[in-house]
Amino acid sequence: MRFIDSHTHTYLRGPEDLELMSVAGVEGVIICSFFPVQPLGFSTMRDLFRWVMEEEPMRLSSYGISSRVAVGIHPRSIPEEDLKAVLDHILALFDNEKASALGEVGLETGSQEEEYVLTQQIRIANEYPVPMIMHTPRNNKEKIVDKLLGIIESENVDPARVIIDHLTPDLVAKVRSIGANVGLTVQPGKLTPKDVHEVILKNGPEGIVLNSDIGNKPSDPLSLPRVAHYLDRAGVGGRDIQMITYSNIRALIPL
Ligand SMILES: [Zn+2]
Repeated sequence: MRFIDSHTHTYLRGPEDLELMSVAGVEGVIICSFFPVQPLGFSTMRDLFRWVMEEEPMRLSSYGISSRVAVGIHPRSIPEEDLKAVLDHILALFDNEKASALGEVGLETGSQEEEYVLTQQIRIANEYPVPMIMHTPRNNKEKIVDKLLGIIESENVDPARVIIDHLTPDLVAKVRSIGANVGLTVQPGKLTPKDVHEVILKNGPEGIVLNSDIGNKPSDPLSLPRVAHYLDRAGVGGRDIQMITYSNIRALIPL
C-alpha cells in the first residue's frame, strides 16, 4: 500500500521515524509550518519557512519520501512583532511558487487577533489560489468549526480547497455538507483506527484525508499504515482505504 500523510511536522522528529515511515510505505507527506514557541518576529518565521521549504524536503527525500510544504501562521504561534512583514513574506512565497498550500492556519481560542491573522492569510491564499489546511483546537471544537465555516463563506473561499483538520467524528457530516475536506488526525488523545472506521461507515471516503500530525507532541509516524491495516481487517474495500490514505490528498495537493 502507498500512503501520503496529509499533515505532519516531520522537522520536529528524528531520522528513525522517517526511516520507519519509508519502510511502511509512506511515500509522501505534507509538511505544515508550526513553531512551538511564540515567535518574536519576522526573522524567526522566515527561518522556520526556510527550514520547512529548503532543509526538510531534502532530508525527507534521502529516505525516499516526497513532500509538499504548507506555509502559514499557526494560531498558537502568532509572532509578537512584524505581522505585516510575515504576511508579505507568505505572499512572496506563493508568488514564487515555493509553497504548495497555506497551513497550518486556523483558530485556537477564536480571539479577535486570531481571526484577523487567519483572515489576512486567507485573502493572500485566495489570490493564487492554494489549498488551505485549517487547525481546530481540542477545546470548544464545534464552536470554532462553526466560526471557521463562517469565515470561509464570508471570504468567498472555495470549500473544496480547504481541509478542516483534527475533526471529531460528530463534526464530519457538517464540514462535508458545505463541500470542505475533512482532516482526521490519528494519534494518542485524538482519533483511533476504530474511530476512522466508524466515520467511513457513516460518511463514506469522499473528501476525507488522514494524517498523523507527527511533531513535538505524542504522535505516531505509522498512523496511516496502522489505520489501513485495521480497516483492511475490518473488511473495508481497498479503494476506500486508498482514497483516505493516499488519493484524496494527492488530488488536492499533487505530489
Ligand atoms: Zn499540526
